[in-house]
Amino acid sequence: MPVRTGEQYLAGLRDQPREIHHRGQKVEDVTTFPGLANGARSIAGLYDMQHDPKIRDEMTYTSPTTGDPVGLSFIAPRNLEDLQRRRTMMSHWAHTSYGMMGRTPDFLNVSIMAMAQAGDYFAQSRPEFKQNIINYYDYIRENDLTLTHTLVNLQRNRRPAASTQNYSTDVALAVVKETDAGIVVRGPRVLATLGPLSDEIAVYPVRNAQLEGTEDAWRYAFAFAIPCGTPGLRFLCRESFDLDRSSFDHPLGSRFEEMDAIIFMDDVFVPWERVFLYRDVDLANNLSPRTHQYNHSGHQVVTKNVAKCEFVLGVAAMMVEILGSESIGQVHALLAELIENLEVMKALLCTAEIDAFLDEWGVMCPATIPITVARNMFIRMYPRMVEIIQLLGSSSLMALPSEVDFNGPLGAEIEQYMDTDTATARERVQLFRLAWDLSGSAFGSRQVLYERYFQGDWMRNASILWSRFDPDPLKEQVRDFLRRT
Ligand SMILES: Cc1cc2nc3c(=O)[nH]c(=O)nc-3n(C[C@H](O)[C@H](O)[C@H](O)COP(=O)(O)OP(=O)(O)OC[C@H]3O[C@@H](n4cnc5c(N)ncnc54)[C@H](O)[C@@H]3O)c2cc1C
Repeated sequence: MPVRTGEQYLAGLRDQPREIHHRGQKVEDVTTFPGLANGARSIAGLYDMQHDPKIRDEMTYTSPTTGDPVGLSFIAPRNLEDLQRRRTMMSHWAHTSYGMMGRTPDFLNVSIMAMAQAGDYFAQSRPEFKQNIINYYDYIRENDLTLTHTLVNLQRNRRPAASTQNYSTDVALAVVKETDAGIVVRGPRVLATLGPLSDEIAVYPVRNAQLEGTEDAWRYAFAFAIPCGTPGLRFLCRESFDLDRSSFDHPLGSRFEEMDAIIFMDDVFVPWERVFLYRDVDLANNLSPRTHQYNHSGHQVVTKNVAKCEFVLGVAAMMVEILGSESIGQVHALLAELIENLEVMKALLCTAEIDAFLDEWGVMCPATIPITVARNMFIRMYPRMVEIIQLLGSSSLMALPSEVDFNGPLGAEIEQYMDTDTATARERVQLFRLAWDLSGSAFGSRQVLYERYFQGDWMRNASILWSRFDPDPLKEQVRDFLRRT
């Protein structure tokens, strides 16, 4: 099947009943449920872009198996040009939500692609797992499916000394039974971003919490993917930050709610053909670095970061224009920080492509260090970018009528007093409602938390960067210097 349309994506969600709960209510249809429907429509818009005659050629490539046009984020890059084409495609998607939807489907498409190309890695677990991951990649590519994933186990406590393991076995997702037909898993996982709006869920080992070699660690060592409607799989949503208000009042939340959910697996059956790794703790611990999945998902993440930096900078530039603060030195310093962030992200993305390398699986991979540096820096950058919006906006972020107030009893006062030298009252309020949704609303606060944590916490990410960096040539330089007479 060639690339889907938005309507086909929405029909897919409707056709696959799944168990989703939101604020005590069971969600029958995510495509109409208030708080979820607008996010689904935004994802649908991405699928429609694949049919837009103006950019269609930049969004798709020819399927290696059917010859149909399929989504370009599925491509297995073999050279720099492939990587750059993929980035152009991902950039189109990232710009539709200005980076506010981190989990557009390309995020997981590139990850599953990387795993499938590294099929021999999975064959070490069991020979048939290689074909399983290849078949799965072919399946989601040819059917243009949307995935979520959950990598993190819940923990009862986080004291490093409390246990030899950094997960609590009684609340970690575990294999409880094995049959001729597959495995049965039980337990929760966090956090399935886009879960309620996905067709499939991938469950694989967490990157930054390694399984320890305890006797029963094998029960937690697995990778698999199943449909979101699989019996026993339940999604518990956090409260929606799409408050069902006008897009004037909540321009971001009313469009780009991608939803995060805890998942509970109540004796969920996973057929063998959907299992990619099982029982091997070392293979589970090394899946991400060895398949380079992290490099490829990082390519999507940093492309998204660029779109997000551009948007925040654009909002900031409009804020200072409307407030008339453009000539103040302190304002320049804040704007300069935003420009620096944007340029650093663009430079790292570019370097990751220029320094890309062909890995042992024959895939062209964005370079590890620039991608990891960009990912890690954004954990600190984004909260600061949001702080800058708050510093630039000050009380204008609170002296903020709603859309209905323009037609209310104080409408005339708003029009009379809230304009500025460069903007009508309505223009000012509209922009600052956007700035608030970016920097202070529940939607905006979740964006900050997302950037801080969606890829693991900063400290463990710092350790990962250090472990991937090769300091030997630099140490040699210093040794050379010390040897000088
Ligand atoms: C908005 C959002 C979306 C997300 N989406 C997804 C998703 O789609 N899929 C997915 O799998 N996950 C997702 N995550 C989860 C994410 O992977 C985790 O939040 C992340 O790995 C950190 O784990 P944690 O939240 O349990 O933090 P914790 O491990 O509780 O860490 C909290 C703090 O305590 C410190 N800490 C805790 N334990 C230790 C330790 N042993 N050593 C040192 N420091 C420690 C950390 O440095 C951190 O500052 C998402 C998270 C957020 C916030």
